[in-house]
Amino acid sequence: MPELPEVEALALDLKGRLDGRAIAKVHVAAFSALKTYDPPLSALEGSFIDDVTRHGKFLDIHVSGLHLVFHLARAGWVRWRDEVPTIPPRPSTKSTLAVRVVLDAPTSETQGPAGLDVTEAGTKKSLAMYVVRSPEDVPGIASLGPDPLTEAFTVETRRGILEREGRKQIKGVLRHQGTIAGIGNAYSDELLHAARMSPFKPANSLDDAEIETLYAAIRDVLGDAVARSRGLAASELKGEKKSHLAVHGRTGEKCPVCGDVVREVSFADSSLQYCATCQTGGKPLADRRMSKLLK
Ligand SMILES: [Zn+2]
Repeated sequence: MPELPEVEALALDLKGRLDGRAIAKVHVAAFSALKTYDPPLSALEGSFIDDVTRHGKFLDIHVSGLHLVFHLARAGWVRWRDEVPTIPPRPSTKSTLAVRVVLDAPTSETQGPAGLDVTEAGTKKSLAMYVVRSPEDVPGIASLGPDPLTEAFTVETRRGILEREGRKQIKGVLRHQGTIAGIGNAYSDELLHAARMSPFKPANSLDDAEIETLYAAIRDVLGDAVARSRGLAASELKGEKKSHLAVHGRTGEKCPVCGDVVREVSFADSSLQYCATCQTGGKPLADRRMSKLLK
């Protein structure tokens, strides 16, 4: 799932490609993706793109006073194409194409127009697209917590958040978009590993030193990921993210810090990874599925 660093880099890459271009047509292949009807999609056609930005994990294409907003969910992605077909794509359950944005006139007679393909792999269709007058009209954006890479996100903001969240587990608090914007399953694993903290630690149990450590880990892990991703094309971002993860998605591999094995706790539709030596005093966390397998 694209999280803050990937969406940030994606916005930057797309800004370079889209700035000053006009949208010729927006084709929707997966109708469940379109969440709004006013203004209509056709309002974008013929209009110029003047910026591409990010709100949490939402990608925002500014189109002459309107906003074409995407939430890529778990398996969504945006692909730049030098040339796209101009005929509307046929809705198909086999295709991963959800939305195609066709740009203005081609640069040469032999070439079709350039465009963007917004795709979603897998069967769980949760990619969302909105056409709005203000980004705040998207409920998920209106309710976003502070962005961890802005100046407004201070140690004090962090402390306040943790106190309000009470006994909730820190892993869940970090991932909740209304609490802090942009962090998902992968980076919450990574920054808890960097902060040497158990994912199940209650939010309000952190002392001052731990709050400082976690705050630094959030800034460092996300800041580094953004710095590495900046300037990469959309097609290179996924590989870049994966190659730098220390524990997330690495069950059974060696922790790069201490060499202990990376362990997993699985849930109904997700899992978390951690290092027991670095994060839980060497004591593995209970995992229902693992203990079932071992019986
Ligand atoms: Zn370790």
